[in-house]
Amino acid sequence: MTQHDIPLAGVIGNPIAHSLSPRLHKHWLGRYGLKGDYVPLHVHEEDLEQVVRTLPRMGFVGVNITIPHKVAILDLVDHISDRAILIGAANTLIFRKDGKIHADNTDGYGFVSNLRQGAPDWRPDAGPAAVLGAGGAARAVISSLIEVGCTEILLSNRTRQNAEALKHDFGSKVHVVDWVQAGNMIEEAATVVNTTSLGMTGGAEFRVPLDGLRPGTVVTDLVYNPLRTRLLLTAEAAGCTVVDGLGMLLHQAVPAFERWFGTRPAVDEATRAAVLG
Ligand code: NAP
Repeated sequence: MTQHDIPLAGVIGNPIAHSLSPRLHKHWLGRYGLKGDYVPLHVHEEDLEQVVRTLPRMGFVGVNITIPHKVAILDLVDHISDRAILIGAANTLIFRKDGKIHADNTDGYGFVSNLRQGAPDWRPDAGPAAVLGAGGAARAVISSLIEVGCTEILLSNRTRQNAEALKHDFGSKVHVVDWVQAGNMIEEAATVVNTTSLGMTGGAEFRVPLDGLRPGTVVTDLVYNPLRTRLLLTAEAAGCTVVDGLGMLLHQAVPAFERWFGTRPAVDEATRAAVLG
């Protein structure tokens, strides 16, 4: 047996103690009886390059990358997937056997897979998608919505120029709407996505007017702490189909786990229960 017979993976961030990813990957390793481990790695920006170059020599097959390193990591790797280039950030590294480091972004995949699981009748071409927020998560959401066939994206953000920057990058399917008009934008949408951090426990409240929500609209919130956000509770009461944000976190981990440990894991109630503890 060689010293690297047990594949290791982990998540690099700062801070990192709050991350649910170790619980998720350890659950899957146990469930499928696989050799391996997954650890949280607290890494400062100035140490990032040295850490990612050293980990493969210690038996690591890859890592997840989280805040604040998702953009900076792109300058430190050998190969970047097309979708990570488009999004401008990576959340997954694969340490290849030839010594090269490959960066990918699976957030958009996780977003769409979660919608499809939580709202099986959801169709990306059913009507405009209204996206609130224009940060890193919005880039992943918009790129994946376009990829699966959404033809019109209404985008509203507190800082309009950040929304304009996304329109510049993603093209004519994106229409920027003033933040004060965000409530009206929701009325026209078949799909509503909150990608802002509004509504997160301990953070600023979600105050976008929601009177325009109609029965049948599919509404999802990337915030998953709390699981039932004000947006989701209001949408549910209005007869919308709601999908919480925890599933996106679970689904984005599927391709990486499969690549690192050789088994494609399921996302189901047992997975959610394991992660929620
Ligand atoms: P980010 O790049 O920092 O962007 C934050 C966004 O929230 C920006 O659009 C920002 O608007 C907006 N915002 C922040 N405070 C606001 C306020 N008081 N009023 C109005 N808008 C405000 O963060 P991110 O990486 O995109 O993440 C956004 C959220 O998604 C976080 O809560 C994160 O935890 C969550 N997320 C969840 C998943 C998942 O798997 N479920 C994955 C990724 C992210 P400005 O441009 O005006 O600053």
